[in-house]
Amino acid sequence: MSRTIKDLHEAIERWAPAATAQSWDTVGLLVGRMDRSMTSVLIALDLTPAVVEEAIDRKVDCILTHHPLLFKPIKRLTDATFESAMALRMAEAGIALYAAHTNLDVARDGVSFELARRLGVRQPAFLTTLDDAVVKVCVFCPVDAADAVRDAMFAAGGGHIGGYAECSFTAAGAGTFRPGEGTNPFIGRTAGPRETVSEVRIEMEVPRWHLSQVVHAMKGAHPYEEVAYDVLKVEQSFREAGLGAIGTLPEPTTLADFLDRTARALDNPALRYVGDPGAKIQTVAVCGGSGSDFIRHAAGAGADVYVTSDITYHRYFETLGNDGHPRMALINAGHFETERCTEDLLADRLSGLLPAVRFVTTVHRTSPVRTWVANR
Ligand SMILES: [Zn+2]
Repeated sequence: MSRTIKDLHEAIERWAPAATAQSWDTVGLLVGRMDRSMTSVLIALDLTPAVVEEAIDRKVDCILTHHPLLFKPIKRLTDATFESAMALRMAEAGIALYAAHTNLDVARDGVSFELARRLGVRQPAFLTTLDDAVVKVCVFCPVDAADAVRDAMFAAGGGHIGGYAECSFTAAGAGTFRPGEGTNPFIGRTAGPRETVSEVRIEMEVPRWHLSQVVHAMKGAHPYEEVAYDVLKVEQSFREAGLGAIGTLPEPTTLADFLDRTARALDNPALRYVGDPGAKIQTVAVCGGSGSDFIRHAAGAGADVYVTSDITYHRYFETLGNDGHPRMALINAGHFETERCTEDLLADRLSGLLPAVRFVTTVHRTSPVRTWVANR
């Protein structure tokens, strides 16, 4: 079965919806056409000129990256700057560019879950949940239409709570309305008297990024010309997306051993850290990429160590208790190094979802940063 870029888009949307990306982010299709056929995809953490040339040599149809290329708007599509030269080269070669960035960071089994597993954590959970991500939709409809309306809302993405699908509540009552001039009422008559109808109120939770589809589907299945419904703000956080990951190692170890393990697993020969090398480590929190905003979260969640990157000097002090000793160990394991596992993660997961497409990972180390380990 021939596949298109749209199939890639839909596979990623089911796992890591673009609507869950941060508002400043640029994810999804960045160069190319959705309807272009696709037999192979090259995966890289970053787009570099070497990756573009590799894509041309390996004759792939699309490059899938974690970090988006076009972060800042470009004014010219010429070969004069780093970003625009790569975008132009790809467009000329007919190769698409697709990015799954902060939407993959917050996805279950996304970047941080994979990093946690690489470091030996079993069954990671989210370190922080997403606030303001859920709304409640309540709709009033005639009893006979309730099943169709409910089913349409479920199919559009409503009604998930934790591991449970099709969660809703229905209560019976009486609805009233008086059709005005120019209406086309399902019950009663135009400009007629007030009607009283047996109705039900259906309510369910909906992730904000599915709200427009759910409302659209609900109205499509509802018999009334004007549908009465409410979209309500709720305070609880959405548990199916979040940042960072936390879990436990099967056996406790020491920080020295865990540093060794981290250095080897992430292929990073030098790690900056805070902590006592003899400290016991069993609960491990991680956040792939820039996770220094969650140092206090990790400590509060009971982590013995937190592995992330892009930590500025003063943020290391957030690990210290009142006595000046570390309450939790902190390891700066490098941005590229903590996220490189994303390449294999994407290849494995997408190969399963789209078996007709060949997913390959880049042969290049896309980070320009090298570590100098002095010969003492
Ligand atoms: Zn990153």
